[in-house]
Amino acid sequence: MKTNLVDLSFHELETFLVGLGEAPYRARQVWQWLWQKGCRDIAAFSDVSKSLRAALAEKAEVRWPEVAREQVSTDGTAKFLLRLADAEAIETVLIPEKDHYTLCLSTQVGCALGCTFCATGKMGFRRNLTPGEILGQILVARQWLWDRESPLALRNLVFMGMGEPLLNYDNLLAALEALHHPQGLDFSSRRITLSTAGIIKNLATFGATGLGSLAISLHAPTQELRERIMPVAKTVPLDDLMAALNKYPLKPRERLTFEYLLLDGINDSPEMARELVRLLSHVKAKVNLIAFNPVPGIPYGAPDPGRVEAFQEVLRQKGLTATLRKSKGADIAAACGQLRAEGAAAATAQTP
Ligand code: SF4
Repeated sequence: MKTNLVDLSFHELETFLVGLGEAPYRARQVWQWLWQKGCRDIAAFSDVSKSLRAALAEKAEVRWPEVAREQVSTDGTAKFLLRLADAEAIETVLIPEKDHYTLCLSTQVGCALGCTFCATGKMGFRRNLTPGEILGQILVARQWLWDRESPLALRNLVFMGMGEPLLNYDNLLAALEALHHPQGLDFSSRRITLSTAGIIKNLATFGATGLGSLAISLHAPTQELRERIMPVAKTVPLDDLMAALNKYPLKPRERLTFEYLLLDGINDSPEMARELVRLLSHVKAKVNLIAFNPVPGIPYGAPDPGRVEAFQEVLRQKGLTATLRKSKGADIAAACGQLRAEGAAAATAQTP
């Protein structure tokens, strides 16, 4: 199989070009074609010598995930079902905000953690995504916006799609490093958020890189409830997670974001809100509340709006910043917890 150039780090690209008998500085030109110009046709790398283009085309290719299906919500959210080279599929979601777009990226095909409210968790774990497959989601989404001459650019990235990012750490790190390259996609770390379901391994290492902010998918303020709805809590107890978060390196004025999905009658009572305040009293925290969107096959309901308001009020009264996130893309199953690459085979079959 040919080398996929978008899977290479800048240094690996230099080494690859040296292997073709070229000077390493050529990597800068090729890198710009790959990431700044989003060009998939090696023959079109016009400022690269003909002989290098020929050598590259023989040994390498530029392969993005293929759009097998796209759906656009009434609120403008776009969800892409992407087919990978081995016919596995992932989903990625492009969300319009007031003055920019945010992309919700997947890091694995499926997920091993089996959170009970999550459609991805039902798939089980299939495999990790490569750096090129992680970054390829950005290339696809950016091209989609370019094709539509969108006045709003893709500015924010959240690693909150399919999979647990910290369980695919090496590839995630390679993708994050490429993202920051000034001759490449050039995303600021302030615009990148990684969300973990509560994995401690690699947490401090990620914090030390400063390559993005951290969000924790908490969803339950007690060990008992967390274990019930998030099996990961059996192996990483809440106390251990909070102890690790207490040591997490934060920049001045930075806070940890705790995601809290409100599930009807499960974790949305005022008592749970008070438990949450107690739990977060020793960390620099802010809370994002999300009202659950019902998903077929998932045994939870949407919380009553009055209870959502009351929950938020308890947090606010105790001085905890709590924002109610408006869920987007629910009509196309693109909202939190709804991602599942089901139908991939059918969609794949329809694609020429
Ligand atoms: Fe995995 Fe995240 Fe879904 Fe939990 S919520 S099963 S960590 S994808």
